[in-house]
Amino acid sequence: MTVQDVESFVAGQWIGPDSAAREIHSAITGDIIARAGNGSLDVDTMLDHARNVGGLALRALTFHDRAKMLKALALHLEQHKQQLYDISFATGATQKDHVIDIDGGIGTMFVFASKGRRELPDAHVYLDGDFEPLSRNGTFLGQHICTPMHGVAVHINAFNFPVWGMLEKLAPSLLGGMPVIVKPATASCYVTELCVRIMLDSGILPAGALQLVSGGLGNMLDKLISQDIVGFTGSADTARSLRSAPPILSNAIRFVAEQDSLNSSVLGPDATPGTPEFDLFVKEVAREMTTKAGQKCTAIRRIFAPRPIVPAVLDAITTTLAKATVGDPRDSATRMGALISVAQKKDVLEKADMIGAEAERVFGDPHNFEIAGPDAQNGSFVPPMLFHCDTPDTGVSVHDVEVFGPVSTVMPYEDIDHAIGLVNRGKGSLVASVITRDGEVARHMVRGAAAFHGRLYFNNRDSMNESTGHGSPLPHMVHGGPGRAGGGEELGGVRGVMHYMQRTAIQGSPDILTAIGQKWVPGAQEIKHEDHPFTRSFHALVIGETFKTQPRVITVADIEHFAEFTGDTFYAHMDDDAARRNPFFPGRVAHGYLLLSFAAGLFVQPDEGPVLANTGLDNLRFMKPVEAGDAIKVRLTTKQKTPRNDEYGEVRWHVTLTNQHDERVAEYDLLTMNSYDTR
Ligand code: NAP
Repeated sequence: MTVQDVESFVAGQWIGPDSAAREIHSAITGDIIARAGNGSLDVDTMLDHARNVGGLALRALTFHDRAKMLKALALHLEQHKQQLYDISFATGATQKDHVIDIDGGIGTMFVFASKGRRELPDAHVYLDGDFEPLSRNGTFLGQHICTPMHGVAVHINAFNFPVWGMLEKLAPSLLGGMPVIVKPATASCYVTELCVRIMLDSGILPAGALQLVSGGLGNMLDKLISQDIVGFTGSADTARSLRSAPPILSNAIRFVAEQDSLNSSVLGPDATPGTPEFDLFVKEVAREMTTKAGQKCTAIRRIFAPRPIVPAVLDAITTTLAKATVGDPRDSATRMGALISVAQKKDVLEKADMIGAEAERVFGDPHNFEIAGPDAQNGSFVPPMLFHCDTPDTGVSVHDVEVFGPVSTVMPYEDIDHAIGLVNRGKGSLVASVITRDGEVARHMVRGAAAFHGRLYFNNRDSMNESTGHGSPLPHMVHGGPGRAGGGEELGGVRGVMHYMQRTAIQGSPDILTAIGQKWVPGAQEIKHEDHPFTRSFHALVIGETFKTQPRVITVADIEHFAEFTGDTFYAHMDDDAARRNPFFPGRVAHGYLLLSFAAGLFVQPDEGPVLANTGLDNLRFMKPVEAGDAIKVRLTTKQKTPRNDEYGEVRWHVTLTNQHDERVAEYDLLTMNSYDTR
């Protein structure tokens, strides 16, 4: 049998393992299948290449350029994923597990690509929130911005998700403009190496954007500087030793840690046997125990049920687990594959014994169980193991020892406050789920427990068919947790990108802020163009380009006509005395929507042209009532432009309506889609 040399990718070169390499075993057969590690890794060259080649290339691109790059990479991986499936079986994972790791990773990349195009600007600077007025006359303003860090992101990943674990960090880093050095866990690094090869072979990434260390990192962490970042996923012990290393502390290097977690699931008091919620609970718990053979950072380790229901819960979960075939993951009948290695099996069994000292094992004997598959007898298989601890208040290991395998403990709770106290004894977790249809239980749980968990997952019969699962971190939602879970926060849409950027407070005049952010702020220069802005193509329009209309006098007849036409005969528009009794109005006033409609009538250029559609209004405020006899006029300013596809982009216009005294009566952002040609 050939033993694969798992290579590292260093400054554009693939480097094979040397005498310092570690052997890697198949989880199924126990055979040596690969070796990885290089004792003379040129760490300085790698860091220099990332910072000075990859970083420069990435920062030259806009957020949208980088988002398009991610989409192209995800499409490329999608075409080659069968290779990744094929190689992943040796980690002990089943085809269903591959979908979580490989398709989940590619899906995460797609989401970041899409969010990058929709939620980030086609620019180099991200504006964090709106501007802050800092002066009486508006000549001095503040704005928070984010720009990419100039260093390298070193990603140290756990063994259990060799593809997703890499891509969920890589996507936000690249979108944020930071080059990456990936260091996968050695036990499954051959899968990550293949994924990196596929991405590099595509030619989509600029040189230096992605490098790989298969095996030990050498002294790389000692060489990090203040612009670098470490993203770590793994055990709490490793996290503690790495994050407290003197170079990390003395350079205040950002260290985002995702570590172990004693996640829990609570069966709500309303979810009694016979309800859809009870069945849902049992299904989710059994699935979480067996997926990836329980080697999932979000797997349910602690199961809480109302004390009278515990026997029924134990019975239902054991019945479900009894149907789960353990064995060769290549066989489609197998429900649960193997642990990653013999070392991991030893660790799981030792820790299960610690749980066993305080709880009774009610299912799964690791010394007597069936393994399906003739080649699988020497692999690192264990059965799912279910424990029952009747005294959760005095239990210690059940709340403290993370068994990174298919092991969970059922415990009773007396009332919901008791459940909250027990759930929080995990000292900070990635996720806790509550299966309930009772909104009060959910609200109570949030007040008592949300601060202790990165994610709270509520599910019941109304959401179960479309719910995404207790254990699935989603790219849209934050993944991480306080305390023991590492105190980190990944994903969460563009929140996850911000780890790779520095937030800076900018102060200056409206023109300076407009130039930096490529978004017009009030008080900045208004640029006049002889042609109406609606006749100018997306690219021709200039930020700050302003069109001012003639005034229009509002009459009583206008108000009455609008009221009859729309059916909006609200008293403030129809009855002068009633309007006066209202603290907001001097008397009968025009409808706000009438003002918006007249404003459009004043600024619109009616001919077919580059403006394709009005897609909405943002930030609408009516600031001063308008009475019959008042004259309104409109100022329309090009505020921001965001390309959407190859044909058109979104133009955000700042619209201000003023009266005959130049007082602002309404203000809003108008959104239109504008063609790249003049049509
Ligand atoms: P681990 O032993 O802590 O290893 C994690 C990573 O750290 C591996 O890449 C490992 O590389 C590396 N590493 C270890 N010592 C190092 C050192 N001195 N310098 C640089 N790198 C070093 O954890 P694991 O066994 O792979 O993963 C299981 C743990 O990860 C569980 O506790 C699980 O809960 C946690 N986890 C958490 C999440 C999350 O998102 N919160 C996700 C998955 C897993 P080598 O393999 O080469 O030693």
